[in-house]
Amino acid sequence: MKFTTKTFIAFLFLFISQSVFCYSDTSSVNEPGQYTFIRQDYFGLNDEYETPYYIFKGKKNGPVMILDGGIHGDEIASYMACDSIVKYLNLYSGTLIVIPRTNIIACNQNTRQVNFDFNHAFPGDITADLFEYRLAYELMWIVDSVKPDLIINLHEARTKWSPKALTDPEKAYGQIVISCLQPFEELLVRSVDNMNKRIPEGDYQFHTHYYSYRDHSSLDNFVSKFNIKSYTVETYRGFDIDARVKLQLIAALQFMEEIGLEFSFPAHLTAFQ
Ligand SMILES: [Zn+2]
Repeated sequence: MKFTTKTFIAFLFLFISQSVFCYSDTSSVNEPGQYTFIRQDYFGLNDEYETPYYIFKGKKNGPVMILDGGIHGDEIASYMACDSIVKYLNLYSGTLIVIPRTNIIACNQNTRQVNFDFNHAFPGDITADLFEYRLAYELMWIVDSVKPDLIINLHEARTKWSPKALTDPEKAYGQIVISCLQPFEELLVRSVDNMNKRIPEGDYQFHTHYYSYRDHSSLDNFVSKFNIKSYTVETYRGFDIDARVKLQLIAALQFMEEIGLEFSFPAHLTAFQ
């Protein structure tokens, strides 16, 4: 399937107009004509895992980024951060696609997985009996259709980061940003450096992390099948939920900024006292 971003967006606009809505920001940061245009759509339509996603388009053209949360349904800060972005973001340039609850069945049950780990179902199979494989196929289809410049996957980890994580490519820790490539790309290193400037010193700081390549995982499939830059953010589940959501927001917004999206977002939602 060779859809361009333009035809994909046009397709949505023409055929799913009943689910399309416009949003005009009237806050003081908004100047006339700099509106954000949002469309809501669903993927997995008519299947049990049907889940909403949101397309933000700035008035000016620019880079395209996909932000996903809820690949694991009990990593709640991931979709709470996505919800906050959907509610409060004002995008001036570029395109942002937000999928808050990628595995909505697991999210609704507040469980990591239903039949098995959805993040081990890639690249997926639309004919499979288990929904996780069909969902993975549809997510891959969206990525292939949109061909974003960057995909950020929001997750949470049960193990707190310590220096031993630096030599452990088999496990996820909080606070880390994962790449399946080494050496780390400049975009990753720069983004983590800059997000840490917005975060208090100490345990909340993010670390770059190499996680060994796995051919069944979402991140590795985005990178290897489509040659798209993709990183996974992990916050530590031992922190309180307010801090975790702020940390997820800071990470997601920093990546948006680093690839050149222009936007505004209320500062108090990411500020630590
Ligand atoms: Zn996860």
